[in-house]
Amino acid sequence: MKGKIEVVIGPMYSGKTEELIRRVVRRNIAKQHGMIFKIFSDTRSKNENIVSRAGTSLKATTIRSARDALRYMGEKKDYVAFDEAQFFGEELFDVVNLFINRGTDVIVAGLNLDFRGNPFDNVMKIVAIADEIVLLKAVCVVCGRDATRTQRLILKNGEWVPASQSDPVFKVEGADVQTRYEPRCKDCWKVGDNMAKVGRHMDVIPEIYDDGKEAKGVEKRVLIGPKDGAPTFVMRHFTVKPGGFSPYHSHPWEHEVYILKGRGFLRTIEDEKPFESGDYVYVAPNEMHQFVNDSSDKILEFICVIPKSGA
Ligand code: ADP
Ligand code: MG
Ligand code: ZN
Repeated sequence: MKGKIEVVIGPMYSGKTEELIRRVVRRNIAKQHGMIFKIFSDTRSKNENIVSRAGTSLKATTIRSARDALRYMGEKKDYVAFDEAQFFGEELFDVVNLFINRGTDVIVAGLNLDFRGNPFDNVMKIVAIADEIVLLKAVCVVCGRDATRTQRLILKNGEWVPASQSDPVFKVEGADVQTRYEPRCKDCWKVGDNMAKVGRHMDVIPEIYDDGKEAKGVEKRVLIGPKDGAPTFVMRHFTVKPGGFSPYHSHPWEHEVYILKGRGFLRTIEDEKPFESGDYVYVAPNEMHQFVNDSSDKILEFICVIPKSGA
């Protein structure tokens, strides 16, 4: 006989892990054999347990992908369970089918919606083939009604505000933007659609490079970057005093520069390329380069864009 598929979905805090644990405990009381899988992650506790917010826990096996679960197929199991199904990717569908075809029941718990309110496709595919679907609700932390959504909040200028539509679905590890989640009802749930803003470069506090050897007379202002939630590029504004220069160095990321004011030259390994306001300058990854203001009286001012990896 083929296995049965039980799916537990809902927002964060709705009790999915609790429900998965409850179902597994009942099976264990019935002397069934099985195991719980969770996805490996660097940031979470490494101990091999799943823990609900209510404090209940059960031993689990940490795997790096849904396919890894197949390695445990050898001896026949009565059930397998996957917690946080959204992390297991598209291949969870095939893996679940392989288990049920061998007569193993599968319990899957996970988020149905991401913080933007879009379905997790891999979880919804399991819903489509499920024998039983449980939709759990949390309590809306704003109004106390049933919460079906997960609100992502980010810390911005000391205030928790809704994360923007353009935020990545899975938060990148080590992202410098502070993040937290809350269960909310549809009415209290918000996606910040507008991170757009206008600012003045003079309002940004500069970093000064002026030891006279490596660099001289340089002020750098990071105008747009991770602090604004920008996922890809960092825009910096530089001023270089007359006779000043940036370090002569290289790095694995490129520079895309636009000269706003003044003039100077780019020192490379082979020559000096003069530039003035209105010019653009490209420095490829790993090329030696230095920006020099060779004017005697005018400030050199330019914009330099780099990828986030160089910031
Ligand atoms: P999930 O796996 O869905 O994120 P858990 O099973 O880990 O949820 O935790 C559910 C428990 O979280 C509840 O039983 C309750 O004790 C606790 N909890 C804390 N805040 C809330 C909330 N706003 N709504 C519902 N449960 C909450
Ligand atoms: Mg959980
Ligand atoms: Zn509400």
